[in-house]
Amino acid sequence: MVDRRPSSILISEAQLRTRVAEMAAQIRAEYPDNVHIIAVLKGAFMFMSDLVRHMDGSVSMDFMALSSYAKGTTRSGEVRLLKAVDTTLDGKDVLIVEDIVDTGLTLTYLQEILRARNPRTLRTACLLSKPSRRKVDVQVEFIGFTIEDQFVVGYGLDYRDRYRNLLRLWCRLAPPLQRTRAPRRACTGCRTAQGTHFTNVPPRWWLPLW
Ligand code: 5GP
Repeated sequence: MVDRRPSSILISEAQLRTRVAEMAAQIRAEYPDNVHIIAVLKGAFMFMSDLVRHMDGSVSMDFMALSSYAKGTTRSGEVRLLKAVDTTLDGKDVLIVEDIVDTGLTLTYLQEILRARNPRTLRTACLLSKPSRRKVDVQVEFIGFTIEDQFVVGYGLDYRDRYRNLLRLWCRLAPPLQRTRAPRRACTGCRTAQGTHFTNVPPRWWLPLW
C-alpha cells in the first residue's frame, strides 16, 4: 500500500490559536457556571486541550473513544464504542468536543448514546466541518472552520495514526518522496574533457516540510 505524507498547509498555527480562543470564549459565555466536556479520542485531544486552556472557571472533563472503520482516507460509516464515559451525565450540561464532522454518522451515533444518559443539555463543538460530505443532518452548535471535501491531518487528526503531532492542519497527501535517484543538474563552469559534468543537487521538494 502506498504511504503518503502531508504536503500543503491548510490552516496555520496562528489561525488555529485565534479561532480556538474565540470558540472557548463563545462556549464559556454559554456555560458561565460549569460545562462537562466529553472529548472524542484520539482526534480531539489537541483541540480539547487548547480549548480548555482558554476557559477560566469551572470545567469538568471526560473522554470517549470510538472507532469508525477506515480504509486509508475513506470511512465506511460503521462506528464502534471503544471507551464509554466514566461518570454519570444526569443533569449535567454536556458538550461533546470532536475533531471533525464529515458524513455526520459518528456524531449522530455519539449524540444518541449520550442523550440516553439524561444530560440536562447536550451540545457539540467541532474544530472542522465538511458540509459537502454530510449524509445525515446532525446538529453542531460550535464549528471552528468549514472546509472543502479534502482529507486533513495534524492538530490531532491522523493518517494511519501518524501526524497527530503537527501543530498546523495539512491537506493534500502526496505520494512518498523518491529518494533513490536525484535529478541531475548541469554543474556550472565545470566542463570536463568528457563533456558536461552533472551533479546531484537535492531539489526544493526534498527539503523537510516540518
Ligand atoms: P464522520 O462519521 O462524520 O463521517 O467522520 C468522523 C470521523 O472521521 C472523525 O472523527 C475523524 O476521525 C474521521 N475523519 C473524517 N474526515 C477526516 C479527515 O479529513 N482527516 C482525518 N484525519 N480524519 C477524518
